[in-house]
Amino acid sequence: MAIILNGKEISKERKAQMKIQVEQLRQKYGRPPHLAVVLVGDDPASLSYVRGKEKACLEVGIFNTTIRLSEQTSEKELLECIAELNENPLIDGILVQLPLPEQIREFVIINAISLEKDVDGFHPRNVAGLYLKQPCLYPCTPKGILTLLKSIPDFSLDGKKAVVIGRSNIVGLPTFKMLLDQNVTVSVAHSKTENLQELTQSADILVVAVGKPKFLKAEMVRPGVVVIDVGINRDPQTNKLCGDVDFEQVEPLASYITKVPGGVGPMTICSLMENTIEVFEKRVAKK
Ligand code: NDP
Repeated sequence: MAIILNGKEISKERKAQMKIQVEQLRQKYGRPPHLAVVLVGDDPASLSYVRGKEKACLEVGIFNTTIRLSEQTSEKELLECIAELNENPLIDGILVQLPLPEQIREFVIINAISLEKDVDGFHPRNVAGLYLKQPCLYPCTPKGILTLLKSIPDFSLDGKKAVVIGRSNIVGLPTFKMLLDQNVTVSVAHSKTENLQELTQSADILVVAVGKPKFLKAEMVRPGVVVIDVGINRDPQTNKLCGDVDFEQVEPLASYITKVPGGVGPMTICSLMENTIEVFEKRVAKK
């Protein structure tokens, strides 16, 4: 039986610490950090992620403004909205909820967010910072994954073998680099990977970010593996939330494992709160 890496609990503890920190910042600088979230359209999943972020801001004492724009918003209109937020001295962090409607190019939008307000860590210069080991903001999900792995008692990442399944810009690739920087030997698998099972069976750590319900099966893991399930899917049979890992099958073999919900999701939001505090501190320190 595996020990559950409880993202909900870990994030609760970290948010309690952040609440104290935010109150101290508020007293010192006369206002708390302020996060602006922009939501274009009314995709139910995006709406629920935005609500989660609003709730976390409230818990930690971070001031939050959510700007809701219609599904028909043009790229130009969204750029104007971002320009206003960039210029507003009372806004510290900006997050544009992805995905965006097809008429809007994500790269253009991410690029338009002021580097110093890019709490998602998706701006090309933050991405470059991660790869060049320069000061930067880490993207929230990989940062949360690392926090989870570091919470395992008496577990050193040094020299471990990890397989990250998925190579997206927001999860797979930055997770690869952040693990590499922790002296983990990392392989990245994707849809064209041959003999995936052979690769995953060699891993001490598996990070699964595929977006396919219950993708990772018992025969793909070796006993004692640490499993981080990033996926957020609907189980086609029950319509309940489920991850990319077949939890029933894999949990008995793993040493540590995350659950969906309650694993990586809350840690992603926790990292967002940390990044918002970080950008605030940098901005007020500049003045
Ligand atoms: P993407 O769709 O961008 O990437 C999925 C990756 O999985 C791709 O690299 C793809 O390969 C790979 N893949 C697909 N099929 C296979 C296969 N059969 N074998 C091996 N690899 C495969 O997804 P994201 O990275 O954005 O998200 C992944 C999951 O994580 C989703 O369920 C998403 O909802 C969830 N998520 C959760 C977050 C959280 O906070 N918990 C945050 C962000 C995402 P290829 O590149 O070849 O197409």
